[in-house]
Amino acid sequence: MRRWLAIALLALCGMPSPAGFAAAVDSVSAMFAHVEPLRFSDHPRFVEGLARLRAMQASMTPAERWHLRYLEAWEDTFTGNYAHAQDELRTVAADSGDPVLATKSNALLLSNLAANRQYGDAFALANRLVPTLPTVKDPDARWALLFNLSQMFVLAEQTDLALRYGGMLEPGTSPQRHCAVLGLRIAALSKRSLALPSSNPAIGEAIDACVAADVVVTANMVHLVRVDRLLDEGRPEDAIAELDGIDESVRTIGYNPHLVATAEQRARALEALGRSGDARRAALAGLAHTRPGDVSEWLKELYGVLYRVEKARGNNAAALRYFEAYAAQDKGYLNDITARNLAFELSTQHAVLQKLETERLVKANNILLLQKELETSAVAKSRLFILLLLCVVGSVVLWLFRLKRSQMRFRKLSQHDGLTGVYNRQHFMSEAARLLPALQRRRAPACLVFIDLDHFKQINDTHGHAIGDAVLRRAAALCRGQLGPHDLFGRLGGEEFAVLFVDRGRDDGVAAAEAMRACMEASPVIEDGHIVTYACSAGLAATDSSGYDLQDLCRDADKALYRAKRAGRNRVSAEVRDDRPLTMRSG
Ligand code: GH3
Ligand code: MG
Ligand code: MG
Repeated sequence: MRRWLAIALLALCGMPSPAGFAAAVDSVSAMFAHVEPLRFSDHPRFVEGLARLRAMQASMTPAERWHLRYLEAWEDTFTGNYAHAQDELRTVAADSGDPVLATKSNALLLSNLAANRQYGDAFALANRLVPTLPTVKDPDARWALLFNLSQMFVLAEQTDLALRYGGMLEPGTSPQRHCAVLGLRIAALSKRSLALPSSNPAIGEAIDACVAADVVVTANMVHLVRVDRLLDEGRPEDAIAELDGIDESVRTIGYNPHLVATAEQRARALEALGRSGDARRAALAGLAHTRPGDVSEWLKELYGVLYRVEKARGNNAAALRYFEAYAAQDKGYLNDITARNLAFELSTQHAVLQKLETERLVKANNILLLQKELETSAVAKSRLFILLLLCVVGSVVLWLFRLKRSQMRFRKLSQHDGLTGVYNRQHFMSEAARLLPALQRRRAPACLVFIDLDHFKQINDTHGHAIGDAVLRRAAALCRGQLGPHDLFGRLGGEEFAVLFVDRGRDDGVAAAEAMRACMEASPVIEDGHIVTYACSAGLAATDSSGYDLQDLCRDADKALYRAKRAGRNRVSAEVRDDRPLTMRSG
C-alpha cells in the first residue's frame, strides 16, 4: 500500500470558507481574518498576506504574534520545510498559552510527523491528544484535531479507525469542509486498492466537490489517488494523461508533497512505458523538490526508479549510490531512535490497553449485577439495557483487538531486521543483556559468536545489490537452521550477524559456528543463471573465559573475528583471554 496518499494536506484542511482578500486592510485582526482562509483557495495571495502580517508585527499583541507564528509554521509545512515547522509548532503548542492555538498546532504537528514517517513521535502525540478530545470545545480546533487523528490512522493503515474518526467530523458546515471530508474518505479507502479502483465514482464526486468549493489542492490530492490506482492497474498512459491535467495547478500552488508525488508518479509511468531517459529526468525533477534529511515513501520510489534506470544502463556506480539512498529511505524511519520511540509508545499503548481492560471488566461486572436484579424484578426494559451494555462491551473488545494488532505490528517492526526477518542489532543486544545474568545465576555456559561475510563488497560489485541481498537472506536462513530453541540470533548491520549459543560451552559453540560456516560454503545462491559462492568468518567468545558481561563478550568475539579474517578468512576462531592457544577451525 502506498502511504504517501494520506499526504499532510488533509490535515491542513480545517478552515471555514474563504473570504475575499481586501486590498487595503489596516487593522491586524481584520488582516488575520482575511489572510487565513486563503490558505487553500488562493495560496499565492496567502503568502502575500503573510508578508503583510509580518510587516505589522510591531503593532501586534502577544497573542497575535503567536497566531502569526502558527501561520508561518503552517506555511513551512506546506512548502516542505518540515524540521523547522515541527520546532515552531512545538513551541506554539507549549508556550502560547492559548488552548485553541495549541490544539491546532498539535494537530498539524501530528500530520507533519506522520507524513515524514516519524511514527513513534506521531503515536506518542496522538496518545496525548486523544484524552483531551472531550475538552476541545472550539469547533475549528476540534475539527483540526479529529481530522489529523483520522489521518494518523490512515497512515498507520488502520482504515476502519480512520473512517470512524472521519465520521465524527461534521461536513455540513461549509463546501470546503464537505470537500475535506470526501477527500479524507478517499485517502482512507485508497489503502484498500480493491475497494477503490480508478473507476470508482466516489473519486469523481470528491474532485467535483473540491473544485466547486475552490479547494484545488485537495482536488489534486484525489487526482493523485486516481493516478496511483491507474499505475497499479497497469495503465501508465492514462496515468500520464491525468498527471498532464493537474501539472500546472500543482506547480502554481507549490504544495511540496504534490510536487514530489507528481514527479514520482510520472517517473514510474514513464518507466513502465520503457522510456527510461524520460523516467530518469522526471525522477531527478522530483528530487530537486526535496531537502536533505527528508524521509518519505515517494522519495523512496524516486530512488527506486533511478536505481533501476542506471542499473539497466550498466552505470553500476550510480546504480549503487541510488540503491543505498533507496535502502536508507526504506530503513530511515526505523533507525535506532525511532525504534526506541516505538518501544516507548508500545508501553504507553499497553497502559491504555490495561485501563480499557479494567473498564471492560467493570462493565462486565455491572452486567452481572443487572442480570441478578432482573431475575428478581423481571423488568423487560432492563433486558434492552443489558443488550445495550453488551454492545458497548463488544465494541470495546473489538477496539482492544485492533489496538493489540497494531501494537504487535509495530513491535515486530521495531525488533526485526527488514531484509532478513531476524532480530535487529538493538533487540539482539537487549535480549542478550537480559539472558546473560540468568545464565550466570544458574552457572550455565554460553558463547557469543560474531559472523561476518567475507569479501561481501565484491559480491555486490560483481553481481549487484539485489543478489547481495539474496546472499544475506540465505546466510541468515542457514544460520537459523543451526540454532537451538533458546539460542539468540540477529543481524548486527550490513553483512554482520551475531549468535548467542545458550547452554553451550566453548567446544560445542565452536562446532555449531563451524557448522554454520560449512553450510554457507556449501550453499551457493543461484540467481539468473549465476552461481554465487560466498563464505564467512566467525569469532567466538565463551563465558568460561570472558565471563558474563555482554561488553566483554562482544570485545572478545570481535577480537576473535579479526583474527579469523587475518588468518585468511572462511574460518572460525575462538578468543581466549589468558594467552592460551587459539582454537581455530577452517574450511
Ligand atoms: P571483509 O571480508 O573484510 O569483511 O570484506 P567485506 O567486503 O565483506 O567488508 P566491507 O565492510 O568492506 O564491505 C561490506 C559491504 O556490505 C559494503 C556494503 O555496501 C555492503 N552492504 C551493507 N549492507 C548491505 C545490504 O543490506 N545489502 C547489500 N546487498 N549490501 C550491503
Ligand atoms: Mg563487515
Ligand atoms: Mg565482510
